[in-house]
Amino acid sequence: MSQSHSDVVKLVHTFSDIDPEADALVTQNPGLGLAVLVADCIPLLLSSHTCVAAVHVGRIGMTHGIIDKTLDIMEGLGATGIFAWIGPSICGGCYEVSPEMYEEVTTFFPASATSTAQHSLDLPRGAIGILRERGIDTHALGICTLENSQFFSYRRDKTIGRQAGVISL
Ligand SMILES: [Zn+2]
Repeated sequence: MSQSHSDVVKLVHTFSDIDPEADALVTQNPGLGLAVLVADCIPLLLSSHTCVAAVHVGRIGMTHGIIDKTLDIMEGLGATGIFAWIGPSICGGCYEVSPEMYEEVTTFFPASATSTAQHSLDLPRGAIGILRERGIDTHALGICTLENSQFFSYRRDKTIGRQAGVISL
């Protein structure tokens, strides 16, 4: 997908050469693999027996409710027993933001707050909070992209490397 930190979720049925303009893809087609590209944001993969989703979760998308919107679409398609995977992403100790951004995110998602001296956001913990509130079983890998050199980190490398989270039904 062509990602832009939006809150757009698209239901896709077939392969296309044109990347959908979205930050979350959902499909019911078992022949289609969905991918999300990230370098510090969260690659969130959602599975169920009827549909799957790949979600790009960064600070902006999370604030705009992309996780809930994706779950709404999946549940609208009859998904039950949804399971969530949170892949490697920047951790709460490494993701320092401005005081304004910190205030904005932690007001809506208190779980994102950290106890570090700086204004650091814990997006994985915020995402886990949203998912648990919806009753979604969640498994977080707990790997920080900035601290682990096996993964790309935009904050660390300032290059255009990415990793992909891929899921199919
Ligand atoms: Zn870290």
